[in-house]
Amino acid sequence: MTDKDPLLPVYPRGSGLTFEQGAGAYLIDSQGRKFLDFAGGIAVNILGHGHPHLLARMGENLHKPWHLSNLYVIPGQVRLARRLLQLAPFAERVFFANSGAEALECAIKMARRHHFHRGAPQRQELLTFSGAFHGRTLATVAAGGRDKYMEGLGAPMPGFRSLPFADLSSVETAINDATAAILLEPIQGEGGVRAWSSEALQRLRALCDARGLLLILDEVQSGMGRSGTFFAHEESGIAPDIVALAKGLGGGFPVGACLASEKAAAGMDFGVHGSTFGGNPLAMAAAEAVLDVVAAADFLPHVRRMAEHLWHGLRQIQQRHGDVLEELRGRGLMVGLRCAIPKENLIAALQERKLLCVGADDNVVRLLPPLIVEREQIDEALSALEAACAALERAPTTEQGEAV
Ligand code: PLP
Repeated sequence: MTDKDPLLPVYPRGSGLTFEQGAGAYLIDSQGRKFLDFAGGIAVNILGHGHPHLLARMGENLHKPWHLSNLYVIPGQVRLARRLLQLAPFAERVFFANSGAEALECAIKMARRHHFHRGAPQRQELLTFSGAFHGRTLATVAAGGRDKYMEGLGAPMPGFRSLPFADLSSVETAINDATAAILLEPIQGEGGVRAWSSEALQRLRALCDARGLLLILDEVQSGMGRSGTFFAHEESGIAPDIVALAKGLGGGFPVGACLASEKAAAGMDFGVHGSTFGGNPLAMAAAEAVLDVVAAADFLPHVRRMAEHLWHGLRQIQQRHGDVLEELRGRGLMVGLRCAIPKENLIAALQERKLLCVGADDNVVRLLPPLIVEREQIDEALSALEAACAALERAPTTEQGEAV
């Protein structure tokens, strides 16, 4: 036996926290301390921890086959796909994967195959945007376009061009005969909770239509009701060609999905794509149980009410503590606090006050509460934020946190 850490040191586990129990919006650590979880496994636990409906449905399904290969018909896939399509009027086809990156891999292949199928195999390039994050596979890091995730990995996968965030004129000039699609997150997550305006999305849609391109939206973080509508792009009224979903879809169970119009998916013939685990019965049961709750009539109105309450409180705190909170970003229950101090200090100060949150680029702290959050828990989070801001103002150099 050795004390050597057996895990790859790829994550910053500086918080030192270990959680053993969860209940609703709370996590309890190994020392019995209760934390309000506004990190949610980075926007995954949309129904919090131990949701009774998820527990009941997963309990029933534990006694059925967990895994069946895609050589067989899996009724849960068909049911879940039909239910997702009801929420996604732009789409007619679904592929199930295990993660966000895999859902994006499918989307990227689909866009290239779409043009190949139409006799334009030279159309290979996807236009992406600075601050993007689409995952950690070799294709999705290339799509993200961030040097820090590609260093030492050899030549980046070709076929992606990163443009300045929301700069529509650079999109117009970048489009050429090799362009296949435009790929973006309607609300960037890791990049610092930056939202595209509805007008910009509408202009991109028009541009894609005029130039024969596909519009791919990465709703891995912004989807599943987090923005207050099921998909964040709904507010703009546009119909994308392909959408990637994951994170909240399984409520904590790894599930990803790529949704597409029949036209966009036309090149995805037999054998072009696949996955051993993607769409297995247990994953489908988890996502169906999540949808039972999220698609109920009162669910999204609840998210919007809670978001309104949270944003009202945040605006007041920002007014009082503008020297800590420089800017509020995001929509619904996807909130970014752009800090005027190092974000690590705010994260640590909130953690001291038993509020969990998560960092993002651009010196932003993300608040990603479970969508089942209640008014009292939002008040609790606002009190923690108010106290943390006050403490950081009083002693900006004494509350130093570890980078997370
Ligand atoms: N796309 C977005 C917008 C994300 O936020 C993430 C993960 O944070 C991914 C894709 C990748 O998802 P996964 O980590 O499940 O592969």
